[in-house]
Amino acid sequence: MCGVFGVSKAPDAARICFLGLFALQHRGQESAGITAVTEHGELVTRRGEGLVAEVFKPETLVALTGGAAMGHVRYSTAGGASEANVQPLTARIGGHPVALAHNGNIVNADDLRGELEDAGTILHGTADTEIVLHLMARSRQADFKARFREAMARIEGAFSGLVLTREQLLGYVDPFGYRPLVLGQLDGGGWILASETCALDLVGARFVRDVRPGELVSIDLSTQAVTSCEPEHRAAGAQTTHPQRARCVFEHIYFARPDSRLWGMSSLVKRSELGEALAREAPAEADLVMAIPDSGVPIAMGYAKASGLPYRMGLIRNHYVGRTFIEPAQITRNFRVKLKLNPVREIVSGQRLVVVDDSIVRGTTSKRIIEVLREAGAREVHVRVGSPQVRFPCFYGIDTPKRRELLAQAMDLEGMRDYLGADSLAFLSTESLTRVMNEGLDGEATACSQWCTACFDGCYQDPYAKRALGRDEPTKKSPG
Ligand code: AMP
Repeated sequence: MCGVFGVSKAPDAARICFLGLFALQHRGQESAGITAVTEHGELVTRRGEGLVAEVFKPETLVALTGGAAMGHVRYSTAGGASEANVQPLTARIGGHPVALAHNGNIVNADDLRGELEDAGTILHGTADTEIVLHLMARSRQADFKARFREAMARIEGAFSGLVLTREQLLGYVDPFGYRPLVLGQLDGGGWILASETCALDLVGARFVRDVRPGELVSIDLSTQAVTSCEPEHRAAGAQTTHPQRARCVFEHIYFARPDSRLWGMSSLVKRSELGEALAREAPAEADLVMAIPDSGVPIAMGYAKASGLPYRMGLIRNHYVGRTFIEPAQITRNFRVKLKLNPVREIVSGQRLVVVDDSIVRGTTSKRIIEVLREAGAREVHVRVGSPQVRFPCFYGIDTPKRRELLAQAMDLEGMRDYLGADSLAFLSTESLTRVMNEGLDGEATACSQWCTACFDGCYQDPYAKRALGRDEPTKKSPG
């Protein structure tokens, strides 16, 4: 998973881009990069491993002059974290410089990589993004936009991203619309393309609209004219060939920042509504509701509202843990959790707690937290989860492990409760999740599925993911 941000015109475009990436830091902490178009029409890139503020010191930003820029923050789910995969990736195609910042997974990457290598292409990194550049380079189309559109037609998966050339900034979203990308505008007329609206807020841009599934938006850097290539089927005026959308429901549940509006809906409001639905479905005899911070907070507040129980801050999070160096000898069973989350004894001691989290994947976090809460004197711990059981791996960019490592694959509900050491355990039903998420969606194709819920129900949209699932057979064994 990654975050992308681009600006088509601003006096200090690289600095705006820096701020945009800073707001999108939650989408990736491994590396950051910015490409700017200089006054002389050259593309200059600075990128490196680490957080945005670590990679871009004031002296680094100075090199990035010019009125247009785009950037990337990376969390590697495909291709590993090597330096060759740090984005934006740059190349010269037909003598013209081009930079690419890509968010998401290309599910047919192995096939395309094989095809390119058979044709003699030398690939430097292991990330999917490089494939897109090579497909563009091999295209016989005359202009960049056409080359890029041709490359896009070959790739399958869940992605959105940006392309920057001397003349234009392009933004694209896959045909199912798994990943978000928004268009905004600055007061000065410059356009912004960003993964989430929280980045627009920070740079003072107005939200204009979501980039549509399958759409390619192109911004002319000299005139600032915006043009849009609709998906092929729309351009032909035909019935939509992808009636179903597959917006990633996990973006709303966990990944996006809660102050972002995704696909027209506030992520914070949706999380809170999931919590309300959870309280109605899985009430608990308890004294108070608390969250596993930060991701569980809006869901827990919704749970408290619907249940009538008070919401309390029973765990406090240290936000500065990062890549803290820990002596191996210090790593006791609960030390890593305590480093990040400390229980407030005055709140939890002697109390019957409803502990709310957004999701359980391997179960490691909740197991350790329950132990820590009991050590702090909790009388009962009732775990409530704001999403259904994660039973299937994600091939679309959310970093969930192989099937055998998923707690819900290894055990039934009672087995999980026992393994976690909870007094009771309940997950939100898939029906409630879908109902809550469909409320407030635009009217488009409401009869069809709007969300990708593959991590919960195994319903993948493409043959590549189904093939990959076949290779990932679960074996019943206890996760560690
Ligand atoms: P686990 O400890 O494996 O059960 O992970 C569940 C916890 O990690 C929850 O508290 C989630 O907020 C968080 N989480 C869920 N999905 C992800 C993800 N793809 N990457 C990192 N953390 C996640």
